[in-house]
Amino acid sequence: MKIMITGGAGFIGSNFVHHISKNDDYEVVVLDKLTYAGNMDNLKEVRDGIEFVEGDIKDEEVVSRVMKDCDMVVNFAAETHVDVSIEDPGIFIESNVKGTYNLLEHVRKYDVERYLQISTDEVYGSIDEGSFTEESNLDPSSPYSASKAGGDLLVSAYWKTYDTPVITTRSSNNFGPRQYPEKLIPLFIMNAMQDKPLPVYGDGKNVRDWIYVMDNCKGIEVALLKGKLGEVYNIGGGNEKNNLEITNLILDILGKPESLVTFVEDRLGHDRRYSLDSSKIMKLGWRPEFSFEKAMLETVEWYKTNFLEV
Ligand code: NAD
Repeated sequence: MKIMITGGAGFIGSNFVHHISKNDDYEVVVLDKLTYAGNMDNLKEVRDGIEFVEGDIKDEEVVSRVMKDCDMVVNFAAETHVDVSIEDPGIFIESNVKGTYNLLEHVRKYDVERYLQISTDEVYGSIDEGSFTEESNLDPSSPYSASKAGGDLLVSAYWKTYDTPVITTRSSNNFGPRQYPEKLIPLFIMNAMQDKPLPVYGDGKNVRDWIYVMDNCKGIEVALLKGKLGEVYNIGGGNEKNNLEITNLILDILGKPESLVTFVEDRLGHDRRYSLDSSKIMKLGWRPEFSFEKAMLETVEWYKTNFLEV
């Protein structure tokens, strides 16, 4: 079974490539533009067993060439940093909306059996109490989440209009190895290791539901193979923590002082809390397997060993 993985040199995409490379049934081709967030080093352990094509998901010629003999497509490729989207929203529309559109057009054209869109809990917006289900309204707050919601709506429209064989997963915040150190956990690990300040937004009480990246990768594979076409599946880790709790845990693990915490002006439109109800994908047999604390320890170890020079 030949599987096209877009954005496979990024954080979650590369972990997914590592995950499925353990199974000889998959023939893997990665398409990645190699933006600042993509890194060929993320694929070094599996590079010999996969095909890699450098290119943009918006490029008709390259997508056509790569997709035409693929059975499945998983689209991780996206601009992903909320802060960057606040400064420069345009590129988010290009990659996350127009790029998704170009992929869907080619899925329609070729004999692709399943297209899986990787989305995010951020499309639902903030929730004070309770958890979002797949039926909840989309109410994104940032240009990033709005562009992801735009991609999701195109996916759902292609299903309704053309019967394009699509599935969408929406996961909560991932952490683990191979993430570019701009997002909270890898940035704070890197800064703490170098005794640099950890810039916490606002009062640090914004809550995220954290999932270990390998749990998400397993959920994505379950949705890809067992999910019902046209459906959306939430994938949450069940570990709701506020940013200060995460910050203190990182300082604790590294034995660094609380004085490194620096409160900075809050992010514009900063969502207060994300929370996902993942019961739908659990009915397909998926459960998060990794303990949050152990996975955090391993993550810190990984950055210590692999990323100190950044
Ligand atoms: P990332 O920023 O680490 O990696 C994105 C990858 O996509 C990079 O390798 C980049 O080079 C590539 N890319 C970007 N634009 C491209 C384009 N136009 N054409 C081809 N390649 C392109 O992102 P990530 O954190 O691994 O996220 C992967 C997906 O998962 C994204 O769709 C994101 O919205 C979603 N997601 C991420 C999280 C998270 O916590 N990181 C949570 C939920 C959902």
